[in-house]
Amino acid sequence: MAVHERSRQLQQRAEKLFPGGVNSPVRGFRSVGGEPPFVARAEGAYLYDADGNRYIDYFGSWGPMILGHAFPPVVEAIERAARNSASFGASTGAEGDLGELVQACYPGIEKMRFVSSGTEATMSAIRVARAATGRKRIIKFEGCYHGHSDGLLVKAGSGVATLGIPGSAGVPEEVASLTLALPFNDLDAVVEAFEQYPGEIAAVILEPVVGNAGCIPPGEGYLDGLRKLTSRHGALFIVDEVMTGFRLALGGVIELYGIDADLVTLGKIIGGGLPCGLFGGKREFMDLLAPLGPVYQAGTLSGNPLAMAAGIATVGYLREHAVEVYPKLEETSKAVAEGVAAEAANAGIAIMTNRVGAMWTWFFGDSAVTNYSEAARSDTAAFAAFHRSMLESGVWLPPSQFEAAFLGTAHGQVEIEATIAAARAAFAAVT
Ligand code: PLP
Repeated sequence: MAVHERSRQLQQRAEKLFPGGVNSPVRGFRSVGGEPPFVARAEGAYLYDADGNRYIDYFGSWGPMILGHAFPPVVEAIERAARNSASFGASTGAEGDLGELVQACYPGIEKMRFVSSGTEATMSAIRVARAATGRKRIIKFEGCYHGHSDGLLVKAGSGVATLGIPGSAGVPEEVASLTLALPFNDLDAVVEAFEQYPGEIAAVILEPVVGNAGCIPPGEGYLDGLRKLTSRHGALFIVDEVMTGFRLALGGVIELYGIDADLVTLGKIIGGGLPCGLFGGKREFMDLLAPLGPVYQAGTLSGNPLAMAAGIATVGYLREHAVEVYPKLEETSKAVAEGVAAEAANAGIAIMTNRVGAMWTWFFGDSAVTNYSEAARSDTAAFAAFHRSMLESGVWLPPSQFEAAFLGTAHGQVEIEATIAAARAAFAAVT
């Protein structure tokens, strides 16, 4: 058994300081049990905890670390930028550099604005949509998580789903009532909502490939159907690519599925591990923002020079090496996801694997998962036992059945084999 003494001490201190011992609920191990290791450092595909134990990392800081931890070009870019001061509160050329890179990957983003998190990106996009349409209601989908702003914490995924709470205390009913939460992959539900609230719906926002209820791909024609419905009813189509952007393809799901969005939100990878988000899209909507237009939105650290430097190094690398990076991510992810699923099948354990590129979930159960209520039927106790066993074998999966696993370019054959061997041992232990 690995030693966890130092992590245990750090946990005890953390519990005195931070609610639940964490600064973001998803970091806790409440739903899987066991003790969360405290990270001391990370390199490539590996996390090292405070007791010196090593883990293959399958959550990558919840998405950003697609090039692996402490990737030298990113580290150097941050060091270089830091020598020129961490923040100015005035405009820099780096914002334009990253902006142009984003536009090269997402040609549909005519204008954009940097923020410091995915939460700010989606919250601001909704504000723009309401201003553009003069309407109040929005449609989101059950199990999708768009950050923790009031109106988007309705039937949300991620930690909200993991902890089994339908929304959040502290969100006024009046605010929550403006958000219609519909089942994912069900176009009829959207048709009915538009019929029920004619001229009242400002926007439809979604994770185009859901990651925050576990990985759930859109069904054939679903994204296209939403685009058509929003256009027909004069609502904006907001595609939240905070998780999928630069991960599932250089131009995210927009490129992968060839869709047209009014507004797109980005985060995670765009900041190369530093706090950064972005919302952008059609000029006619983005030009509603102050100081040009009447929609107010701002940020002391928006376009922060360290975040810009890390983002330029990360997105720049992905763009330059896209022809190698994305096929490699597909190949490695397929090998891990299918290799573990094959071990489960050999052991007679029912698992449904949903995967799109370097993003997947092993749902413990034997029926297809196409929306949140199907995901919620998974055997979370079996997932928890699997998680604990994998961790003990040095494989750190996201600590919830309702989160997608990620890998990056630093994962290779050695990690694939070690992960499959760990899964074999985990399944053998329960059969
Ligand atoms: N949107 C999606 C799809 C996300 O996955 C997340 C975070 O996990 C967010 C928005 C919120 O981003 P942040 O945690 O940076 O506020």
